Amino acid sequence: MIRKNSLFCKLLRVKKTSARLFQECMERFSCSEERCPYCQAKEACVPHGYYERNIIDFIKGKTFYSKVCVLRVCCKACGHTHAVLPDVVVPYATYSLFFILRVLAEYFAHVMTIEALCSRFAITSSMLYRWKGIFLLHKEHWLGAIEVPDLFSFLFIRNLCSLNDYSTEFSSPFIALTNCSFLQQHETRRK
Ligand SMILES: [Zn+2]
Repeated sequence: MIRKNSLFCKLLRVKKTSARLFQECMERFSCSEERCPYCQAKEACVPHGYYERNIIDFIKGKTFYSKVCVLRVCCKACGHTHAVLPDVVVPYATYSLFFILRVLAEYFAHVMTIEALCSRFAITSSMLYRWKGIFLLHKEHWLGAIEVPDLFSFLFIRNLCSLNDYSTEFSSPFIALTNCSFLQQHETRRK
């Protein structure tokens, strides 16, 4: 997997859909400039194909479905293929980064009951708790193992959304620290 930075801004200020941000990032993408994440070969990646995936946002109080085409590249040196994913999407998750952060922020702020929250976002409680679990784990990786009240988790999310440049200040350094994307639930296979 090749992760690309796409959020050089405050998440709070973003007015575009995740699909639009995804597309804009891919318009800037140049295969020839990439280094293979598996064998580190330079200028060896070539387009290999596309696959379609859904992205779900939450816009004006409603779930909003979009589709994007994910580019897969192949390394001519080692033969491995890699999906190219801008950091506006969470690997293996259909729900966008914005969607999951919004759900978690409202969960930790205790603005409504769990039932009302799940109904508002049209999600199951098991999804909510799965996101909460991975969020707490990743927060711990980032900040160290500290027991904190829910209010702190809410403030942590609010701070993430207020960073001047989410990609450079958090998204990239998080991957460098943990070898995993923020909120990603499956381990990255080294392919
Ligand atoms: Zn390679």
